[in-house]
Amino acid sequence: MDGTTPDLLTPMLQRQRLAHAQRTPDYAQRMDDLKRLRAAVKKHAEDIVTAIAADFGRRSRHETLISDVMTVLHDIDYTTRRLKRWMKPSRVSTDPQFWPARSRVRYQPVGVVGIIAPWNYPVNLALMPLVAALAAGNHAMIKPSELTPQTSDLLKTMLGEIFPEDRVAVVLGGPEVAAEFSALPFDHLFFTGSTTVGRIVMQAAARNLTPVTLELGGKSPAIVAHDYPIATAAARLASGKFLNAGQTCIAPDYVLCHSSRVDELVAALEREVRARYPSLSQTPDYTSVANDRHYARLGALVAEAEAGGARVIAINPGGEMLDPASRIFPPTLLLGAPADSRVMREEIFGPILPILPYEHLDEAIAYVNAHDRPLALYHFDLDSARVEQVLDRTIAGGVSINDCVLHIAQPALPFGGIGPSGMGHYHGHHGFLTFSKQKPVFYQARWSSFSLLKPPYKKLADTVIGFLTR
Ligand code: NAD
Repeated sequence: MDGTTPDLLTPMLQRQRLAHAQRTPDYAQRMDDLKRLRAAVKKHAEDIVTAIAADFGRRSRHETLISDVMTVLHDIDYTTRRLKRWMKPSRVSTDPQFWPARSRVRYQPVGVVGIIAPWNYPVNLALMPLVAALAAGNHAMIKPSELTPQTSDLLKTMLGEIFPEDRVAVVLGGPEVAAEFSALPFDHLFFTGSTTVGRIVMQAAARNLTPVTLELGGKSPAIVAHDYPIATAAARLASGKFLNAGQTCIAPDYVLCHSSRVDELVAALEREVRARYPSLSQTPDYTSVANDRHYARLGALVAEAEAGGARVIAINPGGEMLDPASRIFPPTLLLGAPADSRVMREEIFGPILPILPYEHLDEAIAYVNAHDRPLALYHFDLDSARVEQVLDRTIAGGVSINDCVLHIAQPALPFGGIGPSGMGHYHGHHGFLTFSKQKPVFYQARWSSFSLLKPPYKKLADTVIGFLTR
C-alpha cells in the first residue's frame, strides 16, 4: 500500500475545492459520475472478491458479492432513478401574512467532503457514502482502512480509472494519515468506525467547525419473546450474527431470551451452524477474523467470561483442530457471562453470542436502557402490542422486527446511530440530504404586504399587529 504523506493532503483538498468552484457538478455530470462508478464496480467485482479475501484470509465470496458489490450497485440504481426529483427545489408553504410571496428549498452541494471507512465491509463503507456525496454534487476524498491494504489499493486504482483526482481522491495510510485527514477543513466529514475513534474524529472536525456524520458501533441487542417460533429466531439470528463472522456493525451482539426458551434456542443455533458450516476449516462460506489482533481479542473475551463462570459452547461441527493462523473463530455461544466481563461491556465484533435469560419483557427493556443506546435493536415477537412497547420504550439507531440486519438494506430508511452509536443518517435520499446544504430561499412578490409595516408606525400598523397577535 502506497501511503499518502500528510503534506500532500492540504494541496489535494485545495485542488478539489478549486475544481468544485470552477465547475460544480450539474445533473448530467452527477449521473455520468454515478454510471461510471456503477460500471467500475461491476467490472471489478471479481477483483473486489479477491482483494477482500486476500485481506481477510478467507472472506465468503457470496457475502462479498452481496454486501460489498450488490448493495453498492443497488444504491446507485436507486439514486439515479430519483436524482432528478431530489435535485428539484421543493416548494414549501409561505406564512399567510407574507402572501403572495413564495418559499423554496434548494439543494446545494456543500463542496468537498471527507469519507473515512473501516475494514469490515471495506468497499461498501467507502462507496455508499461516495454515492450520496456525488449524487449531491460534491467532490470527495476517501480514506479507506489500512487494515485491508489490498482492497484499499484496489479502491485507489478503480476510482483513479474513472475520476480525476480533483473530483474523487483516495488517500492511503495508517492512523497518522487518518488523523491528519480528519483535521482537514472539509465541508463535511463522514466517518464510519469505532466509537473510540469517532470521538477523536469529532474533536478534530470541531476545530474547523466541520459538520460530521458519525457511523459508529456498539452492542446491538436481540430480544426473543417467550412464544416466538425458536427455529425461525435461530435461523435469522444465525444469519445476522455469522455473516462476515460477526464482523458487522449491526450484528446482534447478544440475545435476551425468555428463560423458558434458552435451551431450545441454544439447540436451534447449534443446528443452524451445523447445517451451514459442516466443516469450519473447509467451507468457503465462513469468513475468517480479519487480523491477528482481533482474533486474539475474541479468544481473550471468551477466556475471561469462562474464568468468570460462563458456559462456553463453541460450535465446531466437524470437531476439527483449527489452525490459529487461519483465524477461523468458531461460532461460540456464551451462557452466564458475568455482567462485568469485557464480552458484556464491549462491542464483540466477532462470532460470539452471549445469551441472557429474562423473565418479564420489562426486564429485557430495562437491560437495554441501562446500556448505551445501540446502533440496532432486534425484537422477535408476533404480539404487536409487545412490539409497540419495545419500540416506544427503547431508543436505537435502527430496528428490524422478527429479523436481523435487514433494515440496513432498505434504501428508503435512514441509516445511522444515536449517541454513542453515531449521529446523522445516510442511504438513499437521506444520504443526498446529508451531503446537501438545504438552502432556504424566500421570493418576495411585486407587491409586499409586509411593506405596510414600517416606521413611522401608525394606526394601520397597530391594526395589523393587533390582528396578527390576536
Ligand atoms: P476504527 O475506528 O479503528 O477505524 C476506522 C477508520 O478510522 C480507519 O480508516 C482508520 O484508519 C481511521 N482512524 C484510525 N485512527 C484515526 C484517528 N486518530 N483519526 C481519524 N481516523 C482514524 O474502526 P474499525 O476497527 O476499522 O471498524 C470497526 C468499528 O467500526 C466497529 O466499532 C463497528 O461497529 C464500526 N462500524 C460501524 C458501521 C456503521 O455503519 N455504523 C459500519 C461498520 C463498522
